[in-house]
Amino acid sequence: MIDKKAIEEHIRGILIALGDDPDREGLLETPKRVAEMYEEVFAGMNYTNHEIAEMFDKTFEDGVDRNVDSQSIVVMKDIDIFSYCEHHLALMYDMKVNVAYVPKGKVIGLSKVARVCDMVGRRLQLQEKIGKDIADIMTEITGSEDVAVTIEGCHSCVTARGIKKTNTKTFTAELRGSFKTDPALQLYLK
Ligand SMILES: [Zn+2]
Repeated sequence: MIDKKAIEEHIRGILIALGDDPDREGLLETPKRVAEMYEEVFAGMNYTNHEIAEMFDKTFEDGVDRNVDSQSIVVMKDIDIFSYCEHHLALMYDMKVNVAYVPKGKVIGLSKVARVCDMVGRRLQLQEKIGKDIADIMTEITGSEDVAVTIEGCHSCVTARGIKKTNTKTFTAELRGSFKTDPALQLYLK
């Protein structure tokens, strides 16, 4: 569990290290506010992928006749999430997640897919890891190995410092099963 008291103390230390006065009016409540914010934005760190899968495991029989020669695909596009990069503790923002899978008899409630993405985002990590973790959880819930997760996002450690490429977006793709080999399926992720 996240230790809010310890975060408060350390944020106070950072304010001092920055040469500021943590006891001036504007900063007085800052350590407490940051600790509360961290508890919320890092809520996903309290759970393993397996625990997140159990939390949002709401599936339905898809009722599709498997004797018919066809393939179904479910794609959810532009799910908004945010996260924090583990290299700089910097916000990753304007993130859009696309999740696709080929149902194997079970379909997950669509709102649950968005909830999974949101919870996975609330961790300290790299963008690639978000896609892998969402794919793992989708496979655990739906039983399908044919899963793809693509993510586009801005990283404030890139846009607000260093080389200041302010419009740079990072794109990552986690392609599994038939999404790895079937260009027709990959089209849905564009
Ligand atoms: Zn970074």
